[in-house]
Parts: sequence; C-alpha cells; structure tokens
Amino acid sequence: MDKKIGFHMTVEEFRQQGRKVVDWIADYYQNIESFPVLSQVQPGQIRASLPTEPPFKGESFEAILQDVNRLILPGITHWQSPKFFAFFPANTSGPSILGELLSAGLGVQGMLWATSPACTELETHVLDWLAGMLVLPDKFKSNSRGGGVIQDSASSASLTALLAARERATAFQTNQQGSDGRLVAYTSTQAHSSIEKAVKIAGLGVKNLRLIEVDDRFAMQPEALARQIRLDRQTGLIPCFVSATAGTTSSNALDPLPEIGRICRQEELWFHVDGAMSGTAALCPEYRYILEGLELADSFCFNPHKWMFTNFDCDCFYVADRETLIHTLSILPEYLRNKASESGAVLDYRDWHIPLGRRFRSLKLWFVLRYYGIEGLQYHVRQHIKLAQTFAGWIQEDARFELAAPAPLNLVCFRYKGSDEQNQKLLERLNQSGDLYLTHTILKGGFTLRFCVGQTLTEERHVVQAWQKIQETAVSL
Ligand SMILES: *Cc1c(COP(=O)(O)O)cnc(C)c1O
Repeated sequence: MDKKIGFHMTVEEFRQQGRKVVDWIADYYQNIESFPVLSQVQPGQIRASLPTEPPFKGESFEAILQDVNRLILPGITHWQSPKFFAFFPANTSGPSILGELLSAGLGVQGMLWATSPACTELETHVLDWLAGMLVLPDKFKSNSRGGGVIQDSASSASLTALLAARERATAFQTNQQGSDGRLVAYTSTQAHSSIEKAVKIAGLGVKNLRLIEVDDRFAMQPEALARQIRLDRQTGLIPCFVSATAGTTSSNALDPLPEIGRICRQEELWFHVDGAMSGTAALCPEYRYILEGLELADSFCFNPHKWMFTNFDCDCFYVADRETLIHTLSILPEYLRNKASESGAVLDYRDWHIPLGRRFRSLKLWFVLRYYGIEGLQYHVRQHIKLAQTFAGWIQEDARFELAAPAPLNLVCFRYKGSDEQNQKLLERLNQSGDLYLTHTILKGGFTLRFCVGQTLTEERHVVQAWQKIQETAVSL
C-alpha cells in the first residue's frame, strides 16, 4: 500500500515529513521576533552559498529542510514579523496557511467550472460574502450582471479593468485591429505604479496616461480631471478609463470617489477603484466611508493578501458588467469546449483574467472568513488602526517630529524636522538595527518615513518599542 514507486515520496514519508514542516512553521512563528526584520545579506551572498550544480542523486528530505535554516533564512526579510512596518502589510494567518496547504494538496487547476466545480463555486460564493461584508453595491454580486473573481494581484486587476475599458470604448475593435493611439487613461500623480504598467501592457502608451494633480491631502482634484478630459476630447483623443485610489500606497490618500464617479458617468468612462490595502478597512462600519461613491464604479479591487490575514496571492476583483469583461478576454479553442460551459449555467473564470490556469485560492480565503468571522476581522483591523493612530499621536507630541500627511487609517507618514539627509540616515540606521523595518516615500518633495501597522502579530508593545527606537536613534542624527 505504501510502496516506494520510482523516486516518489511515499505517502507515509509525506505524513511524517509533513508534520515536521508544520512544526517548522510553528517554531518559526514562535521565534520570529529574534530575527532581524530586514535581511542583512549582501547581493549575491545567497547564491554564492548554494551548490553550483543541481544534485544528480536525490537527497533526503531532512537534508533539504535543514538547508532552509542554514541557507535560506539568512536571506529572508521577515514580512510576518510583528516589527515589520514597511511598505504595506502582506499578512497571513494559521487558517490561511493551512488552507493554502490543502489547496496545494488537491493540486487543482480551476480554469473551467468543469475542471473542479468547487473551485469555481466556492470562489463565487466567498466573493459574494465579501461583497456583503464590505457593503459593496449589489451590482458587484454574482446574482446581478456583475460579479467577483480572485486575481493574483491588484496590478492584474487594474490591467484587466483597463482592457475591458479599452474594448468598451472602441466597440471591441481594439482587440481586432490594435490600438490607434487615441485612447487615454487617467489617474492621480499619487496612484500606484501598476496603473502605468497596465497602460504600457494594454497598448495605450504612457504618453496617453494623464497623471492628475492632487490637493494638499494628496487626493485627486476632480476639477483638474474634468478639465483634462475636455482638453483631450477637443484634440480628438478618446478618454476611456479613470482609476481612483481608496488609500494610496505612498500616503494613504483617499481620492474623492463620488465626484470622480460623477465625472465618469457624465463622460461615459470606465471608473475603476483601487483599494488594494485600505479596502479591508471597510469591513468596519465606521470606516466604510472610504468606499463611498463605489456605486458609480465599474470595477473595484482590494487585496486580502495585504491586510486580511490571507497569504499572498489573493486580490478580489469585482466588475459591474461581467459581459464586457468576458467579451474582452474570452477565447475558446476546441480543446476547452465542454457541455457545462456551453449550457451557459456556469462561470468559467478563465475569461475573467489574463492567465488560463488558476489555483484554488478561494479555499484559504474561505478558511480565514470562517475561522475569524466578521467579528474577528473587524477586531484586528480596528486594533491596527488604533495602534497607528496612537503612533501618530506620539509623533505630534514630540517637537522633533511632524506628520507629513493625514493618517486616516493604519499608515503614518512622518518626518524628523531636519534635512532629507537626516531623515534618510534615520531610516538606514533603524533598518540596519534589525529591530524594525520601515520604508520611505517622497511627499511634497521631502524625504518621508512611512510607518504602516498591519502585520498579524503586531501588538501594542511592538509599536511602543519601535517608537522608542526611533526616538533614541534621532538623538544622534
Ligand atoms: C500594493 C498596492 C498595489 C499593488 O498590489 P499588487 O497586488 O502587489 O499588484 C496597487 N495599488 C495600491 C493602492 C497598492 O497599495
């Protein structure tokens, strides 16, 4: 029954080694605070420690696992450390990791409904749950003309939205003829770089991306958007797509969605809302205001893999009109034809995103939603926001520091009141200490430190220690 076949791992060995791997992960989380948050290796150091040639003879699993400690861990930046305050969170949790493991165990490729009905139907169901939890407009639910799908990242979601916008604006002719160079897309100067990337990939050309000015809170100025659209129409261009951000990466700015949405409706432009990190806050009624105006949007995305305890990758992408999306991306070679698809009774998610193949990602999301419940998710989001707000308060009370932007949620942008060089030095020293990890941005031309609270294990004591370290380090600038 448990015979070794060829070189494969036997089921019994899998059982034993699998337990060791789960123990390894549990030990990792127990000891995670002892590692320097930012990996301290030099470029090339990890490769230099690896054998130049692959093994001809297979090795024992013990040897492989040992080398994870010896060769790999030094090159890990510990995103799951409670002392990680850099970029944005990419948090995970026990239920998510175990859901991911089960997904790998099933090894399903869910390109069509028929290739694993549960993979498609659980995804539809969980995305409808989430639409309810975030109080998204009904048009984004699967029982309307729209629906949700899991994408690998917000970058892919925005690209997909742009492709659908491009086709809607040209009666699906760009798919046939290619772009004639007249389509124009709009976002703010503070939008995530993935919008620029999407414009390149979709063939609009970066010269046809308009970066709209922001106000002193770093939010898009709707009048400037309206003006630019008029100007572009006057010169014979074809505006087609506006992407607004609910919580920018740089400073967490909230674009005015209702005003932007009204302009998009008047001008008949596709309105996409990127809520990659901050969208999660809308789980709590008191923060739902960040998505006000979403009823005017054609599409929306947010990342449970950032701030909802679901390990990378998992972006939830919603559209109001799934026909346009499917018409844009649909392909049907003979070898994918099947009865269920032709009956029209099922969704085939291969037509909702760029790759054909897809993992069973809704499993981990389902585990997370069930394990935490709405109550648990709300609790932890509120904790993170509270800790960030406490930190923002300390910044304001210390005369040596200042806030560099409003801090509506879990990201605090701040500066040491001194030169850019001093701020840069502060950041480098903090990160070299290994005691915490922060990153920076440029706001109004000034070097700015960002402190983002969102890791699963971050508690008050970690924020207190981080602030102490920042204060101590500032003394010697
Ligand atoms: C992080 C972020 C992105 C990119 O997310 P990916 O899922 O890594 O593509 C896009 N937009 C915003 C606002 C972000 O914060």
